Amino acid sequence: MRVPRIHTITPLSETQTAALDDKGIKHIRDVLRLNVGHQVILFNGDGYDYHGEITELHKRNVLIQIQDKILVECESPLHLHLLQPLCRSDKMDWCLQKATELGVNSITPFISSRVNLNLPHNKIDKKITHWQSVIHSACEQCGRARVPEINAPIEYQTLIASLPEDACKIIANPYADENSDTEMPLNRDRVICAVGPEGGFSPEEIEFSQQHGFNSQRLGPRILRLETAVVSLLTITQSHCGDLN
Ligand code: SAM
Repeated sequence: MRVPRIHTITPLSETQTAALDDKGIKHIRDVLRLNVGHQVILFNGDGYDYHGEITELHKRNVLIQIQDKILVECESPLHLHLLQPLCRSDKMDWCLQKATELGVNSITPFISSRVNLNLPHNKIDKKITHWQSVIHSACEQCGRARVPEINAPIEYQTLIASLPEDACKIIANPYADENSDTEMPLNRDRVICAVGPEGGFSPEEIEFSQQHGFNSQRLGPRILRLETAVVSLLTITQSHCGDLN
């Protein structure tokens, strides 16, 4: 049986007995239905997997005896930041899951002129907590022991203007001239990728992005759905500059 990997916010160290946080307890008891004696792997984002065994299991208290600490080496040499339009919850979760699997390091959801979704201020914290749990689950599944950061949603032009000037920046633009500025940069160790919402970027947003150092990237001759474009752009970028080769 595959040993389950479980994300926890608990600090971990070798040979320690770790007391799981509430989310970990729920996962072990109610989802995985594990018992005392089962092997588990814990990770908290520090880059290591902590292998251990469940030694106590109560309703509000689960203890894991850590037996081994193993460095996980599956991070891409490329630091990848995804600028992701806010979209319907199921689509958003899917994009975050796939972006995590494809090795992004940070994700910033944005609101641009053609994003037609309203996220009230009082729901933002709850939403971010939900997105973090989607990312944690994706890390559990794909084996990452570094957890991508998810930032609070921000207005598109404010976000673009806040990015470092010298970063390598790519915007997915179906209307880019296929013969001009669509060269994917090679040998870059940090890349920022922007994908537009279902309604696309407005011409002003494309122009504003270009003025702030973005190069347009065409993803073939067909118009892709937002989520397909996210996966395609991240795949191409990892393939040119990262670990998908
Ligand atoms: N009707 C929108 C338009 O004309 O821009 C379609 C938007 S598409 C569903 C969502 C986003 O995916 C686009 O804003 C763009 O960033 C990206 N995208 C989709 N197809 C693309 C392509 N062939 N090349 C580059 N980017 C693409």
